[in-house]
Amino acid sequence: MSKQIARSRIKKLFEEADKAFKKNKKLSNRYVEIARKIGMKLNLKMPKKYKRQFCRHCYKYLKNGVNSRVRTNKGKVVIYCMECKKYTRIPLK
Ligand SMILES: [Zn+2]
Repeated sequence: MSKQIARSRIKKLFEEADKAFKKNKKLSNRYVEIARKIGMKLNLKMPKKYKRQFCRHCYKYLKNGVNSRVRTNKGKVVIYCMECKKYTRIPLK
């Protein structure tokens, strides 16, 4: 699989995760897992916007205002995961 194909598959998987979220959270989490695996296999960096859409600790799909809270603090994006109750900090550049 080329990196370009992988990127478009990851994009698609996150879109599907978002669509599935309302009805089936587990399915969303599964999509995130697949997207992560593709990324790891090809050593792809997760695009910034997707980094905010899953938890670094439990890897669950996160939706701001539903099962996560996103804030910015001192130049960092702080994501609180309500699934595992942990924080993920992503530096803003
Ligand atoms: Zn979590």
